[in-house]
Amino acid sequence: MGNSLEGNHRSGFGDCGSVGHIGVYGMKRSVTLIVVHCTATRVDADFTQKDLLRSHKARGMRMVGYHFYIRKDGFIWSTRPLEMEGAHCRGYNQESVGIAYEGGLNENGHPADTRTPEQKHSLRVLIRTLKHMFPIKQVCGHRDLSFDRNGNGVVESSEWLKQCPCFDVATDQWCA
Ligand SMILES: [Zn+2]
Repeated sequence: MGNSLEGNHRSGFGDCGSVGHIGVYGMKRSVTLIVVHCTATRVDADFTQKDLLRSHKARGMRMVGYHFYIRKDGFIWSTRPLEMEGAHCRGYNQESVGIAYEGGLNENGHPADTRTPEQKHSLRVLIRTLKHMFPIKQVCGHRDLSFDRNGNGVVESSEWLKQCPCFDVATDQWCA
């Protein structure tokens, strides 16, 4: 209520019911970073939002650590309120939004850009929307951030941290 984010973004989204539920207004934290992840699951296997929730609960979290989850068919699931800081990138959760896409491993179990055309489309639309909602300074992949900063929560094992999200986020065209 009455913070700078509200002031900056009310005109853009105040009349738009389709995104109003996301709850930009009253945000207590400032979002300047978007971090893209993959689930590090094989492209030929399904990893549902229930599977994702189960895996994160197994790591001691109450809900999915990412804010959004994009299935292979391009469907975007809201998995965590934006008002809450995420639990997806150690040291960067407070200022970021976390997005994960389903996949990241090819049929042989090796890291690869397995994004479907639908996932690429949804990811681009989602990132562009977030850039309109928040003063985003950087869009990057999990692997682009150092992970030796102290922070809360980490989703991937160190094994996947080096590859996640299995494509070069920086070279994609997110801006408009
Ligand atoms: Zn990750």
